[in-house]
Amino acid sequence: MVQVQSYSKPSATQTSPELGYDYDLVILGGGIAGLTLASALKDSGLRVLLIEAREQSAAVAKGQAYAVHMLSALIYQGIGVWDKILPQIETYRRVRLSDAEYPEVVEFNTSDLGTKDLGYVAEHQALLHPLQEFVRGCDNVTVLCPAEVVNTQYFPDEVCVEVKVDGEIRTVRSKLMIAADGARSRTREAAGIKTKGWKYWQSCIVAFVKPEKSHNHTAYEKFWSSGPFAILPLPGNRCRIVWTAPHEEAQALCALDDEQFLAELTRRYGKQMGKLELLGDRFIFQVRLMQSDRYALHRLALVGDAAHNCHPVGGQGLNLGIRDVAALAQVIKAAHQAGEDIGDLQILKRYERWRKKENLTILGFTDLLDRIFSNNFLPLIVLRRLGLWIMQRVPMVKRFTLKLMIGLKGKTPNLAQNP
Ligand SMILES: Cc1cc2nc3c(=O)[nH]c(=O)nc-3n(C[C@H](O)[C@H](O)[C@H](O)COP(=O)(O)OP(=O)(O)OC[C@H]3O[C@@H](n4cnc5c(N)ncnc54)[C@H](O)[C@@H]3O)c2cc1C
Repeated sequence: MVQVQSYSKPSATQTSPELGYDYDLVILGGGIAGLTLASALKDSGLRVLLIEAREQSAAVAKGQAYAVHMLSALIYQGIGVWDKILPQIETYRRVRLSDAEYPEVVEFNTSDLGTKDLGYVAEHQALLHPLQEFVRGCDNVTVLCPAEVVNTQYFPDEVCVEVKVDGEIRTVRSKLMIAADGARSRTREAAGIKTKGWKYWQSCIVAFVKPEKSHNHTAYEKFWSSGPFAILPLPGNRCRIVWTAPHEEAQALCALDDEQFLAELTRRYGKQMGKLELLGDRFIFQVRLMQSDRYALHRLALVGDAAHNCHPVGGQGLNLGIRDVAALAQVIKAAHQAGEDIGDLQILKRYERWRKKENLTILGFTDLLDRIFSNNFLPLIVLRRLGLWIMQRVPMVKRFTLKLMIGLKGKTPNLAQNP
């Protein structure tokens, strides 16, 4: 459970004697991005306040699961939390990409990278719980949960944050505010940061199934003309389905009874794992692409979904957020060690320059994949099938695509270099 603390006035040890800050930085949002950042700042010498609005039980009920890419795994190893995460998640050692019924399949294997695994799939709580535990053991991090930021004011030398805890409003002074408060970030909006992007014509259905045969540590991305359909292996021989379809079709699919839904699901899933059993509820999500114009202002930085959102094809969104926080932690730790002001815009721009372009590449790549595959335009069908044919046969193209998809093409944060 998240460390629930009622707010108490900062003690002498919490207050920087020369400047009177209560904390060096405030992280708003105790989702996976916010918790990862707090964990990455352990031993930084920075005093961190993490504020999360929702009780832990609400966060766990999210019913989400994520493909966790190799770079994210290396970051968690660098933080020192991976050995607590790994036993609760599943490994995938093969990825198969296919275009509808076209027989040419691109298959990525561990031999393409020379690693033991290609990646992992984790349910939300399998990441959240170990991170919450880890943060609880960080002496420099204080967690307020449930608590809500009701007002933030930025000044040249500080940020003043009004937090509502147990019905009382308290004011906290800090050098830097980090918004990890998700796609609908109120912090981003209140700071006047504009965004670019669009809502997709598709929605995404997620469901869990248990197949009759082993999933064999294989992840599938099947591109149907209505949208990508992913099968991700989970512990207990379960699989997670991420099924994208035009809004009306997705709504209609969700409205089917279990038997009809399973029949439609099986049509897209294929027979490779035998009969499927539907587990629990299915959820429907909006899909959108969004990039914030700025990732940083003076005394404010955005990370994770607060900064960008992308199409779920390729399971990129959370992984981009994990890379953001590894980069930001590196930038502010270095600034702190050099005696610089961690909230200064010139410092935060180092983070923005690093991450904004890299995220844009992935946003563009996922958008392109969705557009090229989600249609029946004959020239594009020919082109994409030729692309799959080339990818399967030209090792350089195959390795490049794989590395791009799992985060090994950008700048590697220090945390991932010395796991
Ligand atoms: C269908 C679907 C499938 C996906 N699959 C994958 C996948 O396979 N792999 C992958 O990498 N990504 C995937 N994603 C993307 C992923 O879900 C998101 O990128 C990720 O959850 C974002 O994490 P976050 O911590 O940035 O934000 P969030 O998870 O939204 O966390 C924000 C936190 O901030 C808190 N908060 C908000 N406002 C306040 C406030 N005012 N005060 C205090 N707290 C506040 C919230 O309660 C929440 O806990 C998928 C997305 C969708 C829609």
